[in-house]
Order: sequence, then structure tokens, then C-alpha cells
Amino acid sequence: MERSAKPAPPEMCPFLVPVTADRLWMYPVGAYCRRPGGGVRVPAPATLASVCATPAHRACGGYRAGRDEPPR
Ligand code: SF4
Repeated sequence: MERSAKPAPPEMCPFLVPVTADRLWMYPVGAYCRRPGGGVRVPAPATLASVCATPAHRACGGYRAGRDEPPR
């Protein structure tokens, strides 16, 4: 599993990976989601701001699946 250089702040989803070399992407993105067994996806900007980068990420189905927690 890939890891970012710094651990994510506790309020941020640990599967959110900041983009540091945005020329790798077809369009500019600030971060992407990479959870175990889930591949790579780019959440919508509103989802990034309101879910992935906040404590609300604990209710995300992807987060819970990545941590082997049952869905809510
Ligand atoms: S909150 Fe969900 S969509 Fe966002 S980075 Fe975490 S697993 Fe991915």
C-alpha cells in the first residue's frame, strides 16, 4: 500500500492522498482516494471538503470498508 509522506491529521480520512505532482493527472486535483482493495478514485470537490477532510469521513462507506467495519 502506498503511503503519503506525512500521516493524515486525525480529522482527515487516512485514505485521502494529497497530490503533489499534478501533471500526472488529466485535470487538476488536490487529492485522491486510495483505500485498500478499492482502487483509486477522485472524490468531487464538495465531497473532499465536506466528508474526506472532516470527521464525517468516519461515515463514508469506502472508509468503513477499508477498515473492515460493517456499513451503517
Ligand atoms: S472519506 Fe471515503 S471517499 Fe473520502 S478519501 Fe476516505 S474512503 Fe475515500
